[in-house]
Amino acid sequence: MIYLDSAATAPPRREVLEAMWPLLTGGFGNPSSRHSVGEAAARALESAREAAASVLGCRPAEIIFTSGGTEADNLAVKGLALAGLDRLSGAAGNGRAPHVVSTAVEHPAVLESLEYLRRRHGFTVTLLPVDAAGRVDPAEAAAALTPATVLCSVMYANNEVGTVQPIREIAAHCRAAAVPFHTDAVQAGGWLDLDVTGLGVDALSLSGHKLGAPKGTGLLYLRGATALEPLLHGGGQERGRRSGTENVAAAVGMATALVLAAAEREGGAGRAAALRDRLIDAVLHRVRGARLTGHRTERLPGHASFCFPGTSGEAVLLELERAGVLCSSGSACAAGSDEPSAVLTAMGLDRETAQTAVRFTFTAALGEREIDQAAEAVAGAVAAVGRLGGSHAAGVAPVTLGA
Ligand code: PLP
Repeated sequence: MIYLDSAATAPPRREVLEAMWPLLTGGFGNPSSRHSVGEAAARALESAREAAASVLGCRPAEIIFTSGGTEADNLAVKGLALAGLDRLSGAAGNGRAPHVVSTAVEHPAVLESLEYLRRRHGFTVTLLPVDAAGRVDPAEAAAALTPATVLCSVMYANNEVGTVQPIREIAAHCRAAAVPFHTDAVQAGGWLDLDVTGLGVDALSLSGHKLGAPKGTGLLYLRGATALEPLLHGGGQERGRRSGTENVAAAVGMATALVLAAAEREGGAGRAAALRDRLIDAVLHRVRGARLTGHRTERLPGHASFCFPGTSGEAVLLELERAGVLCSSGSACAAGSDEPSAVLTAMGLDRETAQTAVRFTFTAALGEREIDQAAEAVAGAVAAVGRLGGSHAAGVAPVTLGA
């Protein structure tokens, strides 16, 4: 079996599980308890915070551990936007509706948070368009900022097509306009520079299970004294920004995976980019009509995504699984939905073509032989689906890509 679905979830790392185990057994204490077992748990939690902070180049107090990327995105988007209402109240607001800038290609964790703000709190939302490669123009982001803008959120790299956004430039525009800038770095976490000062971001979301930690682990970086409205109220853990008894093992798993991923990044990103290019070249060469989606070079190293016009993404996926290759289809953004991917349609693809999308994502541990086998399997799968009559020929259920 060749696993090419690391963007959905990456294989767990043994070192991470070993680091977590003591906290789930003898070291089970509550970090708030004032006895030795509790204090040991508190120390483990703070060490995890320091380790994560060392990768991000920030202070430990700027790390908020969460239950994953979805929670980190919700906390950033809702928490920063709602806190921004205070700045708009009074003369400065001038009676304007609060405003948020984001993009049409964000993950649903961001888009649905924005929809909630619009529906329940009267925010106006500008979703920046993207070009055919899925990139946002920083000048358009700058032009979208208004005196009522309380937040700008642009993902670091896209989950469906791997395109990397020019977030440094966008963050600089936001800083000049005194607008807090958040980036969803869930897919970028294992591959790209995470130094928050160099990036110029005020908030950054990460998810552990994309890095080799278990699902349900994540963090939000929040710069210094940036105002944040908490979503979870209670005992005031995480400096009042995220109440609830801390999941110490999850925090340790998240931090351990982050440190390991950062250590591997230098060599690993180059290796994975070479594998990616090998796969892209082989598929484009062997499969007539295949179309790469996303940017050719400004894309995540371990990410290759295509449309195969005249087929169905789900049918190709099923054929590939028969051939021992596991990947994602890009045609449905939610299980049970027939809607084509909003990311692909935002990039200008027609609905029919968008329904033929397939995504291959992998770690740097993969070998060239597996890439070549995968390319061979793709050629065979597309040909088989084409012979069966293309679109929806196999009559299979839509598969989730949103993960
Ligand atoms: N943001 C992006 C870009 C993602 O790809 C994902 C998950 O696939 C998330 C957020 C949500 O992360 P989690 O699965 O940890 O909730």
